[in-house]
Amino acid sequence: MTLAQLQQVIRATYGDKDSRRGVEGTFMWFMEEVGELAAALRGGTPAEQSAEFADVLAWLATLANGVGVDLEAAVRAKYGGGCPGCGEVPCVCDQTEKP
Ligand SMILES: [Zn+2]
Repeated sequence: MTLAQLQQVIRATYGDKDSRRGVEGTFMWFMEEVGELAAALRGGTPAEQSAEFADVLAWLATLANGVGVDLEAAVRAKYGGGCPGCGEVPCVCDQTEKP
């Protein structure tokens, strides 16, 4: 599944509820899922971690749908040509900036 397909699946499945909730309410759910991912990374099983990654990505797609961002195009534009900072693969940015 591509990111564009994910956004379409999320739109088809939850689009009506998502637009009623709005971006602000959706962001709260997104952050809750990020917290659940943190808990799973600390002590969850591989299956639990996998499920939480899926939830975070699904809520991120919901947010992108809400503001009209094409995730696939955004990721390609920002990361498709290497590190956004130095333009290299692998990144050769100064480690003190973002260790
Ligand atoms: Zn870099």
